[in-house]
Amino acid sequence: MRSLIRLLHISTLLHVIEAVLVGQDFYARTLDSRLSLRNIDSRNLLLPFNVTRTPGSSGSFEVRKFMENHFENLSTHWSFESDCFTAKGLEFCNLVFTLGQNASNYLVLAAHYDSKIKPEGFIGAIDSAISCSVLLYVSEFLSNFLDYSVDQWWSDKRKQSLEAFDGVKIVFFDGEEALDTWTEDDSIHGAKHLAAGWSSSENINNIGLLILLDLLGSKEHLRVPSFYLKSNEEYKALLSIEALNQKELPHKETLFDDSILGYLETNRVIVEDDHIPFLSRGVPVLHLIPLPFPSYWHTIEDTFDRVDDTKVQNWAILLCEYVASRVAPTVW
Ligand SMILES: [Zn+2]
Repeated sequence: MRSLIRLLHISTLLHVIEAVLVGQDFYARTLDSRLSLRNIDSRNLLLPFNVTRTPGSSGSFEVRKFMENHFENLSTHWSFESDCFTAKGLEFCNLVFTLGQNASNYLVLAAHYDSKIKPEGFIGAIDSAISCSVLLYVSEFLSNFLDYSVDQWWSDKRKQSLEAFDGVKIVFFDGEEALDTWTEDDSIHGAKHLAAGWSSSENINNIGLLILLDLLGSKEHLRVPSFYLKSNEEYKALLSIEALNQKELPHKETLFDDSILGYLETNRVIVEDDHIPFLSRGVPVLHLIPLPFPSYWHTIEDTFDRVDDTKVQNWAILLCEYVASRVAPTVW
């Protein structure tokens, strides 16, 4: 890490600087134990989600405890709030982990951890266990990385950022799935509750960007388009990190499809998901979800043997690098 920082200072070749993965030492040390399906390590972040996680169930409770323990064991302090409520006879709990108190411009990274009630036994590996694992990995990266954050490198990096976030929230939504059939009333239960709460407390005004992950990590050849003009620059930032480092990444093909411009032109909601109640309150949203969806979406076949862990690792690296380039840690 130290030698990398020195390299950044002395180099005058911008393209050399940007082609270096700032977390490469961390990835080399941790990716295989955390985000590999071949490595049954006690620190594995994928396998604890291999249970049904319907709202209010024991599986849901176990996974919540696992996520809370994960954050408690990080080297940097994350504050924790649970947003629990009862609706339609079930208890729902969103989990919110925050780095940087009283920040004025938070980057929010989010995914849903609940699984569908039907079909019985539905695991939801790509829907959306994988996305939760990726966010846990990003939190570990951030905690680890901020241990080195006193270097001048950060302030140099901050100058490069178009918009630096001064805090990070990682949110795990409950109740994204419909309890019966998807309708406006029966869907995204947790996200609606949290957005309403943040709206009444005005915390929503301090959200600079919400990045929502869903349906990522399938073995199928599916790619993520850009959906919203307001976040298209952030989409392109991720794409550019990937392009500059493709040869170094575990998965050698792009995860993005930037040839589809139709969604940007319409600027309408194409895919309904947890971002809707935030989007409708004016929060810019980057929705990372492939189109089309995996062929086995919402079937009993959505299991971990259909996951490509090299893609999972790519998503983790891209988001870590993105966060490192956009978050100024001066307030920690
Ligand atoms: Zn779903």
